[in-house]
Amino acid sequence: MSGILVYSEKPQLLRELLGKARQVATEMGTDVAVAYLGESVPETAADLGNWGADTVYTVTSPLLVGLHPEPYTDALAGIVEQMKPELVLVGATKPGLEISARTAARLGVGLASFCVDFRWQDGCFTADCMIYSGVGKNSYKITTKPAIATVNAAVFTPTETGGAAQVTAVDVTINPPSMKIVEYKAKAAAGVRWEDAPMIVDVGQGMNQKEDLGLAQELADLFAGQVACSRPVSSERDWFPEWLGLSGKRIHADLCVTLGISGSIQHVVGIRDSKTIVAINIDENAGIFSQADYGVVADLHKFVPILTAALKTKSAKLA
Ligand SMILES: Cc1cc2nc3c(=O)[nH]c(=O)nc-3n(C[C@H](O)[C@H](O)[C@H](O)COP(=O)(O)OP(=O)(O)OC[C@H]3O[C@@H](n4cnc5c(N)ncnc54)[C@H](O)[C@@H]3O)c2cc1C
Repeated sequence: MSGILVYSEKPQLLRELLGKARQVATEMGTDVAVAYLGESVPETAADLGNWGADTVYTVTSPLLVGLHPEPYTDALAGIVEQMKPELVLVGATKPGLEISARTAARLGVGLASFCVDFRWQDGCFTADCMIYSGVGKNSYKITTKPAIATVNAAVFTPTETGGAAQVTAVDVTINPPSMKIVEYKAKAAAGVRWEDAPMIVDVGQGMNQKEDLGLAQELADLFAGQVACSRPVSSERDWFPEWLGLSGKRIHADLCVTLGISGSIQHVVGIRDSKTIVAINIDENAGIFSQADYGVVADLHKFVPILTAALKTKSAKLA
């Protein structure tokens, strides 16, 4: 092949990458392939043709389990060496970031991380990537063959193209890893994913104590929403297993109500795609007010119960 090779262990993200890869490959007049790496090949592998793949290259091995970065790097780098794509697109999950970085280092080729767009220009790829926590964008022209780029979820859109992909096994040597994974720990389940919630109450360090989370939950329940938080509320106070922001989850809610959030750019990156942001903060100069559609200068512990009661009265009248 001479076109675009796509890899992600996440099926939805893989379809998103294929949507964009298909569009660019059509402009280039080239083909799109998927790298499938695992213990065995699923019967549905050819169905990736419906999402834009011409070919699915498979590498199977009993060592391709648990997304261990070493054997997965052997497998991906092996396909790249044999098939010689122009571009390798990898989903920017935690394993994807590690496997892509190792593959780029092993092959001595250029890697653009967290790419939000890319194009074929003057015989090589140019990738646009977020910088400074998403407030700026850099364009990188990658002159190596291949170029490698990682892409987050929900950047591109899947497109159904119809058809079936050709499934081809590739013979690659997978070496036993030098590093042993001693334990996997499941993440604590947090109900509906924050990314899928229509409404989020976003709790910051302005909330005094864990018991006050009930105020946030009561407000969220009125909108079938979820309670989420800033990084220090998770990493320092340990109230939640994850957080919103640059290094956390990103939401696209219809409504996001922030309680005691100061508005640091690292946090705002995670909530700014919400349709409406309402900020409640005791400090009238808090930065969050410049990001919000509506702002309330108040002590959240006093204001939220009043707001929740008023909303309940209003919805009772409408019922
Ligand atoms: C590389 C890097 C990555 C980072 N990534 C993330 C990330 O992904 N997500 C993230 O959240 N942070 C991240 N951070 C941390 C970030 O910079 C901020 O420190 C953090 O977001 C602040 O959290 P906060 O708004 O909850 O707390 P604070 O900044 O302490 O703000 C608390 C706010 O509550 C208000 N307040 C106090 N009392 C009340 C009250 N009674 N009623 C109403 N309001 C009140 C205060 O006025 C203040 O504005 C990152 C930092 C770095 C360096």
